[in-house]
Amino acid sequence: MSDLHLLNLTQVRDLLARGEIKAQEAVAACLGRIHDTEPKISALLSVQGEQALDAAKSLDAAGPDTDKPLWGVPIVVKDAICAKHAPTTCASRILENFVPFYDACAVARLRAAGAIILGKSNMDEFAMGSSTENSAFGPTANPWDLSRVPGGSSGGSAASVAARQCYGALGTDTGGSIRQPASFCGVVGLKPTYGRVSRFGLVAYGSSLDQIGPMARTPLDCAALLSVIAGHDPADSTSAAVPAPDYEAAVAARADLTGLRLGLPEQFWGEGVDPEVRDACRAAVDAAEKLGAKVVDVSLPHTPYAVAAYYIVAMAEASSNLARFDGVRYGYRDPSAGDLAGLYEKSRGAGFGDEVKRRIVLGTYVLSAGYYDAYYRKAAQARELLRRDFTAAFERCDLLCGPAAPFTAFGLGEKKDDPLQMYLSDIFTISLNLAGLPGLSLPVGLGRDSRLPVGLQLFGPAFGEDVILGAAEALSQALPSLPLPRGIAAA
Ligand code: GLN
Repeated sequence: MSDLHLLNLTQVRDLLARGEIKAQEAVAACLGRIHDTEPKISALLSVQGEQALDAAKSLDAAGPDTDKPLWGVPIVVKDAICAKHAPTTCASRILENFVPFYDACAVARLRAAGAIILGKSNMDEFAMGSSTENSAFGPTANPWDLSRVPGGSSGGSAASVAARQCYGALGTDTGGSIRQPASFCGVVGLKPTYGRVSRFGLVAYGSSLDQIGPMARTPLDCAALLSVIAGHDPADSTSAAVPAPDYEAAVAARADLTGLRLGLPEQFWGEGVDPEVRDACRAAVDAAEKLGAKVVDVSLPHTPYAVAAYYIVAMAEASSNLARFDGVRYGYRDPSAGDLAGLYEKSRGAGFGDEVKRRIVLGTYVLSAGYYDAYYRKAAQARELLRRDFTAAFERCDLLCGPAAPFTAFGLGEKKDDPLQMYLSDIFTISLNLAGLPGLSLPVGLGRDSRLPVGLQLFGPAFGEDVILGAAEALSQALPSLPLPRGIAAA
């Protein structure tokens, strides 16, 4: 089949399981697609082509295995997540030559389910950013318009899925890094509940916020991936000992939205949202009502504090997490350093990019003795208030929704030198990380002016991924599907 790459994950998975195509064909289709589209979008930092073909060969030799729910399915993994024998650079010079000898829990679970790792995707350095422009190895372009960003920090994963280089990808989300790029690239991205997916083998950014999650073309595809990667892991003490349901079955069980109470938080629909984004999202809410959802107006009154609270907490945690990159144990070591202090200074000075340095400095500042109460403690208090907002809202509705981002994909370079503007692109995603809640971005159409994808964010109470995914799949069936991204149409 020459157009295998056009199928979505669950479709290709079913063909593989029935023996109608071989794992090697699926891998070859993706590698061909990578060859054709990568020169335009630069979504990947490394491609494990030979390893992937070898893995496919062994799978084919043994034949389809019904105990392996992703048998033969090629997947891309964000470069912040360790995959054995593949570079894991976090898009940073300081980890440029780091090749882990172990798999992250999520990657090990994918492999155990028969999935094949194709490559590692580009990102903002250490997942700090909203555009993938902070990668030390150059930006990724948005497949819809090559002059625009794919969003970030999981921009490589989003662009790779949108360009049909793979059937699904792993991203990570500390403040929106799965949902915002999913929205910009017209794919589905789910940030699970904090603790739902093990963080073992994920390079830490903000440990109380980070989550690994699936990105794919449909909510059902994300459900198939989440079913494999979710669940308790003794190697991550923050992973939740809550049994993971069969998310795909939960999605299949929901035909429409009858009885679903869908809350619209006023703070997500007002000022600051581009009219074309608001209108596309509103049209999707109208479609949800036609499917039986009951729309409820709610308020999350502390939303205005979310950006400030997030950046204090995230930077504080980052400054501590990144202390381990010191040029001693692994990573870049400056050869010219004379003494130990010089080794730290020079290795970190040359190894980290500007945004990472900015955050280490600010994070250290907010944690310092004289300022801790003024900043960090206040941020922790705001976080608790945000959490209470959600608890109150979920007493009145099953899910909440609003735009995933206030605008569609912006131009490469447009916000790069204005960190505050960049930080504001996370305004609708970060409060969920602060509260530890799950959220999904669903493509609901193209903006009427920009003709670029718009994402509607559906979010729910802790461990409500099954409800979110089910509602998203039902809604997506009622919306027209997006065409192939324009920027790579000729590929
Ligand atoms: N853009 C946000 C930040 O820069 C979120 C990043 C993320 O979710 N990893 O921190």
